[in-house]
Amino acid sequence: MNTNTINIAIDGPAGAGKSTIAKRLAKKLGYIYVDTGAMYRAMAYYFLQKGIESSDEAAIANACKDVDVTIAYEGNEQQVILNGENITGFIRTEQVGNMASATSVYPVVRTKLVELQRQLAKKENVIMDGRDIGTCVLPDANVKIYLTASSRTRALRRYEELKAKGEDCELDVIEKDIIDRDYRDMHRETSPLKQAEDAVLLDSSDLNIDEVVDAIMKIYEGKMEKE
Ligand code: C5P
Repeated sequence: MNTNTINIAIDGPAGAGKSTIAKRLAKKLGYIYVDTGAMYRAMAYYFLQKGIESSDEAAIANACKDVDVTIAYEGNEQQVILNGENITGFIRTEQVGNMASATSVYPVVRTKLVELQRQLAKKENVIMDGRDIGTCVLPDANVKIYLTASSRTRALRRYEELKAKGEDCELDVIEKDIIDRDYRDMHRETSPLKQAEDAVLLDSSDLNIDEVVDAIMKIYEGKMEKE
C-alpha cells in the first residue's frame, strides 16, 4: 500500500468523462489532477511537427531522446511543457489524439512517461487519469475507478464539444474514430486499456457529471474509512 501520498486512479476509454470528473474531484479533495493523456499528446505533437510517421518505430525511438515532457500548474490547470515550450493549447485536436493513440503503443514512449507519472504520484496526493494507471503506473493506488460509457454517448459528447467551439464535424466520423481508438488502446501489447481487477466499474452513459462525482466520492470515502 502507498503510505506517503494518496493516489486515485481513473482509467477508461476516450470520451468517458475522465478529465472532467477527475478535475472536479481534485478540486473537492484538494489533490493535484494529472492528465496523462496530455503527456502522450505532447509526444505525439512533437512527432507530428518533425514529420515522423506513426509506423516508423525507429524514428520514434530516436526522437524520444530529444523530447522532454514536464507538467506545471497555472492555477489548477495542468500545463504541458514540451522542450521548454508550453504547448497545452495545441494538443486537443483529433489529429494529435489519433497520433497519440498510434504512438502510445511503443514501449519507448510509455517508459519515459510512466516514470514521470510515478514521480508525481509519490510527491503529491493525485487523481491521475489515463488508460493504464490502475494496472501499470500506480498498481497500489488507494482508489481505482474504471469509467466508461457507450461509444455513441462518448461520440455525442465530443460532437457537442467541437460544435460549441465552432468546429465542423460529423457524429458518425467521430464515433468511428472513438471505436478505432478504443480498439488500438485495448489491443496493444504494452499496457493495454483494461479494468484493473481491483477497480470499480462505473458506466456514465446515463449519469450526469454530478452523479458520477458523487458515486466516486462514496467509493473514495468507503475506502479511506477502511484504511
Ligand atoms: O486521454 P487522451 O484522449 O488525451 O489520450 C490520448 C491517447 O494517449 C489515448 O488514445 C491513448 O492511446 C494514450 N494514452 C495512453 N495511456 C495513458 C493515457 C493516454 O496510452 N495513460
